[in-house]
Amino acid sequence: MKKLFIVLTGLICMTGCTEKQASLKKINQVDFSNVRITDQFWSPRLDRHTSVTLPVCIDQIENQTGRIRNFENAAKGEGEHSGIFFDDSDVYKAVEGMAYSLINHPDAALEAKTDEWIEKFAAAQQPDGYINTFYTLTGLDKRWSNMDKHEMYCAGHMIEAAIAYYQATGKRKMLDVCIRMVDHMMNTFGPGKRDWVPGHEEIELALVKLYQVTNEEKYLDFAHWLLEERGHGHGSMGTEGTWHPEYYQDVIPVRDLQKISGHAVRCMYLYCGMADVAALKQDTGYIAALHRLWDDVVLRNMYITGGIGSSAHNEGFTTDYDLPNLEAYCETCASVGMVLWNHRMNQLTGDSKYVDVLEKALYNGALAGISLKGDLFFYVNPLESKGNHHRQAWYGCACCPSQISRFLPSIGNYIYGTSDDALWVNLYIGNKADVKLGKKAMKVSMESQVPWEGNVKLTIDELASTVKKEIRMRIPEWCEKYTLAINGETIDQPTLDKGYAVLARPWKKGDVITLNIEMPAVLKQADPRVKQDVGKRAVQRGPLVYCMEETDNPTDFDQLTLSTKSNLDSQFDATLLDGVVKITAKEENKEINFIPYYAWDNREAGKMKVWIDYQE
Ligand SMILES: [Zn+2]
Repeated sequence: MKKLFIVLTGLICMTGCTEKQASLKKINQVDFSNVRITDQFWSPRLDRHTSVTLPVCIDQIENQTGRIRNFENAAKGEGEHSGIFFDDSDVYKAVEGMAYSLINHPDAALEAKTDEWIEKFAAAQQPDGYINTFYTLTGLDKRWSNMDKHEMYCAGHMIEAAIAYYQATGKRKMLDVCIRMVDHMMNTFGPGKRDWVPGHEEIELALVKLYQVTNEEKYLDFAHWLLEERGHGHGSMGTEGTWHPEYYQDVIPVRDLQKISGHAVRCMYLYCGMADVAALKQDTGYIAALHRLWDDVVLRNMYITGGIGSSAHNEGFTTDYDLPNLEAYCETCASVGMVLWNHRMNQLTGDSKYVDVLEKALYNGALAGISLKGDLFFYVNPLESKGNHHRQAWYGCACCPSQISRFLPSIGNYIYGTSDDALWVNLYIGNKADVKLGKKAMKVSMESQVPWEGNVKLTIDELASTVKKEIRMRIPEWCEKYTLAINGETIDQPTLDKGYAVLARPWKKGDVITLNIEMPAVLKQADPRVKQDVGKRAVQRGPLVYCMEETDNPTDFDQLTLSTKSNLDSQFDATLLDGVVKITAKEENKEINFIPYYAWDNREAGKMKVWIDYQE
């Protein structure tokens, strides 16, 4: 039997593709297609994503804007291009969201709609593989002449969408469109051919995904080459964008980067691409740069919500510790980018501090980007409002609505990871999943009350035989006290490693891990170098940052203060904002009412703030 297995494996290696690159990543992805969300907090959101958000996106793309018509016109080779030059990317991001959605919500009509669009993409592709409706309709002779026109950015989103749809359905028509486009790009650019610096990163991480799906190493090599192109002046050789090269992360080679600067979303996608390529190319120079950049972002340039990019001017960064609240930009896409990048950093290092940031950005900066009903979107996520900032149905530049529509249904990607020795449990979101413990297949289910209460139960539902490996449970950074038990027996002092409680023993079917995390409301103080937050405090409970809204605090909103005497009382209110734990700061004869930041601007318009004046 063993012999036969070896022979068969040999055949697969000979006839199949080249051996995949060894990865520096300590933790492997358990992707969304193996994780079915069954969570009290997230499942209703995913239902609304399917029933409301996707129909909103589809209506905008087909009826309210010319996004799909651009593809139809490009296929005919006549007609106008409408909208912005990168609008194709919104259609691709919607397809990615539709693909993820099909995992948790199989839906023949949605799948048929996706197939219909994919036919239009394929028809809009040029004979040489090029696909971009803006240049096809405004002059193909001008294509690849301006780094800032997002041709590779759109291609990257097309690739991500195609792979998601392939994983969800097994259908590869869109994937083949992508492969022809990438082959076209590689015929045009590369060593010995033309130089190129994509003005908006995204293609790099997408090419790594394409490599992982096809096993074609040339795609990984091309991603690496594109990263190495930055910082040598190629971006400004006749292909200059309108901004300073800093805006495009094109001042110095990426491995020399010391500080985050320029456009926030571009930085996030760049760092994701660097992490992916670094892992597979064993490029430790990239990893050292990513560690420097992470410190710069998280210690000096991140809001308490996980939002980044304080300035509207460049949709990005200014100086360290400059974090204005009212004028905060904090693009929704940048918070999603923080999730994507920190996920990769966790996989590279096995350190849970990256999941702490991921979780912060997920539950606050990113989740605020969509209304409770699922039909309105924030582009900008300030931490204070005079009552005039509201979610909109769509935007001329619609990167954020389409981003949220692809991000929400992908949260299954972030719950688990696997390695040779362990199952890593990162987020506490109810689910049923197919994972691996070592090399053995295992089915698990998780029940969780997070973010309202810290009760978590993880059950091994199926495991063929006993396996002696680790299960690593993340102990969140916000957690001060917790209890951990296996089959009802308390583990007194679990071994902790980089923020994980390491549970090593022979695991068998039916084993149950319970984790109970205390989740008191607490007052948080900003780094004293953030001048905008001096003398202020914010309220946080578990992963959720809270804010005060005028509608709950109609009297003296601007005068209300917290103090050393404030008692924070937490109560679940099923009737408030689809059910939230509200927090009341009580002190003698005054009260301040707080709601989760993600839920603000879902009732009547009014003022809002996260950082509240505090009396010592
Ligand atoms: Zn955006």
